[in-house]
This record gives sequence, structure tokens and C-alpha cells, in this order.
Amino acid sequence: MKLKWPNIMFIGFLLSTVAVTFSESESSESESSESDIISRFQQYLKIKTNHPSPNYKQSSEFLISEANSLSLHSQTIELVPGKPLVLLKWVGTSPDLPAIMLYSHTDVVPAEHDKWDHPPFEAHLDSDGRIYARGSQDMKCVAMQYLEAVRKLKQWGFQPKRSIYLAFAPDEEIGGHDGAEKFSLSRVFQDLNVAIVLDEGLPSPDANYRAFYAEKSPWWLVIKAVGIPGHGAKLYDNSAMENLLKSIESIQRYRASQFDSIKAGLKAIGDVVSINTVFLKAGTPSPTGFVMNLQPSEAEAGFDIRVPPTVDTESLERRISEEWAPTWRNMSFTLGQFKQKMYGRDASGKPAITKTDSSNPWWALLENAVQEAGGKLGKPEIFPASTDARYFRNLGFPAIGFSPIANTPDLLHDHNEFLHKDEYLKGIKIYESIIKAYASYDEHEIDERFKDEL
Ligand SMILES: [Zn+2]
Repeated sequence: MKLKWPNIMFIGFLLSTVAVTFSESESSESESSESDIISRFQQYLKIKTNHPSPNYKQSSEFLISEANSLSLHSQTIELVPGKPLVLLKWVGTSPDLPAIMLYSHTDVVPAEHDKWDHPPFEAHLDSDGRIYARGSQDMKCVAMQYLEAVRKLKQWGFQPKRSIYLAFAPDEEIGGHDGAEKFSLSRVFQDLNVAIVLDEGLPSPDANYRAFYAEKSPWWLVIKAVGIPGHGAKLYDNSAMENLLKSIESIQRYRASQFDSIKAGLKAIGDVVSINTVFLKAGTPSPTGFVMNLQPSEAEAGFDIRVPPTVDTESLERRISEEWAPTWRNMSFTLGQFKQKMYGRDASGKPAITKTDSSNPWWALLENAVQEAGGKLGKPEIFPASTDARYFRNLGFPAIGFSPIANTPDLLHDHNEFLHKDEYLKGIKIYESIIKAYASYDEHEIDERFKDEL
């Protein structure tokens, strides 16, 4: 049948009406679910999982009720009594393929309530759209974004090929020993057959998201100097104080050289050794303060050093023993947290680094998935502090630190930690894209197709 113009116009009118109706119903639906999404995030933020006594019972109950609403399998694992890890599973259609692990920690650091503009556990949404709460950046946002992305994907009928695990672990903020460390070494984890772990990253002040492939190791250095005590009026060499100050001068010069390369834009924070003096202990106490006419026989200083896996650790150790705490200057040192050289190393003794080149398909998949969702990743970075990801990397699993937070100041552990609701919602779309790409990825598929063609 040939259509005459008026008919075409009529159909066109109908179509446009339909289109308008559809987009209206879609927008009202997304609006109502948007407030649901934000309110679920607020509920999680309101649970006081702050140290020193995090309410893990309540957070576990909340996460399991979310899992039930999404028809995910759930289990609570207590490798240490009172410290539950909630593990959820979305079974893939090819469950033999290695699985995806979406990892987050449930605990948060404490907050000084009086220093906040809005109470840290009320998840206040201000008129600009900012959600203020401890954990809004670190990292309850990521946990809920995983769940919301799963919700959306399920609504659309998406079926993952690989199984997807969501792990919500305790105690990251106090070292992760009773959480990620025990979990990573447990039979439960080994049986999951995990291919890739996603964990937390850092907010980005600009439009590019940040992603991390390794992290620095903490070396907590304490240097002690001893020397002959003497009258405060005397000038003599090798007093404890003089020797310690020589070390501090040398350490400060080293610190400046590292910092200068960041200031000059040559290196990122993750690429340099950071070193900060965290305590000084010396002097002879008196009832009113310190004895002023006495040069003490002992002096001590503590330093928090963070070492990237790319650094030659042997030469740094030599620098400590020969320049910063030489025995010939009556000095000694201890390195806490550096109990073994394996810290930050995998089982073969190599630096625990997740590859970002073509040998690691998960990196390229992440980059593409973020791009497809309208975002962009910056240059891969080394995380400047510690996260639970190291426990998985140390075992040889690829682990990427990523929190989809752009255009936001880094307020981790700071007062007035907040996340804008639009940034949060955008992050959910980013995870929808990542989960889709990760759960669908099958390296053998291309080979199989190729075989058919042969
Ligand atoms: Zn964190």
C-alpha cells in the first residue's frame, strides 16, 4: 500500500505521541527509583560501623535483606567471631568460568561529630545534592553501587556468563587481618575460583576516574640514638640529640627530593617514597616540663614511610642503616609493619602488581566499560596507602582499586566526607557497564568461533 502524505503525517504524529508517552513514563519511573536508590544508600550510611566498635550485626542484616530483594544467594562467614563477612552470589550461566569478585569493606573510621557541618551518621542530603556521611566516599558508596548496578542489570534481564560474587568484609580500617587477610587465605575464597577482584580507589578532583594497580607498603621506622649525657652548657660531639638531628636533616633532604618531583609534575604520589616524622621523643622530664641544663643520653624519632613496589628496597634499607641510623653514630633502628620482606610481594617474591598492559584483559575491559558509560580513566596509579586489595594481589590475583567518584575532593577519613548524589548515580551506571563487560567476558569464545570458521 502506498501511503499518502496525510497518512504518513498521522503515523508520524502517533509515533511521536507514543515516544513522548514512553519517555515520560520512563522518566517518572526513573525519578521514583532514583529517590529509592538514594534512600537505600542513606540507610547503609546510617549504620554505625565505625571503629572502635562497629555494628557489624546491623550492617550484615541490611546487606542480606538487600540480597534477598535481589534474589542473590547469601552467606555470612565468621572467620573470627563477631566479625562477619557477607558473601553474595549471582550465579552465571557458565559457572565453570572463573568468577568476578566485587569487594568492599563495611567498616569506617571514627568521626569527630563536633567538627562536622552535618552529623556523620545521619546521611544528610543538602539542597545542593551532597550526601554527608562517614563512609560516603570510603567505601559504602561502592558497596551500594555494586548492589544497585546488579538490581538494574537484573531488571533488564541481563544474565551473567561468569558468576559474580559480592564480598562485604570487616576491619579494613584496622589492617584487615580478621577480614580480608583471613578470607583470602580461607578455603571458602579458594573455592570461589576468582578471576579478578575489584576493590576501592580514591576520588578524583577532575573529570577522570582514578584506578590503581598496586599499592605502597608501610615501613614504620623508629630510630634511636644514644650518647654520653652532659651539661647543657658544654659543646661536645656525638650526643644522642645531635646524632638524631643529623639523621632528621638527612631524612628531610630525602623527603624534599621526593616531594620536589611531585611538585614539578614529574611523578605522582604513588611513584615516590613518602616519609613523614610522626614522633620525637627526647629530653629529661622535670615537674615543670624538661630539665634545661642537661643533654639527654637517649633520643628517638618515628617515621611513617610508604614505599612503592617499584622502588629498590635493598638500597632503601641500606640508606636507613648507613645514612639515617648508622651504628658508628651510636644509632639503631626498628622497622615495624615490615616484619618480612614479603610485604607487598607475591609468593615468588616479585612486587605485587596487577598488570595494566595487554597481558591483563581485565584492565582493558575496565577502561572500555568506563568509556562506554560516558566516563574516562586517568593514568593507572599506585595507591598511596594500604587497602585490602593487597591480600589478593599477594596471592597472585589481579586486583584493581577503583571508586567511581570524579569531580570530588578526596575526603577519606576527613571531616565532612560527602558524595554528590549525581556522582553516586553516575557511578552506578559505570558499574552496570563494568559488570556487564566482566561477567560476559570469555577468552575462549573468540578461539571457538575461529575453530568453527576453520
Ligand atoms: Zn576504604
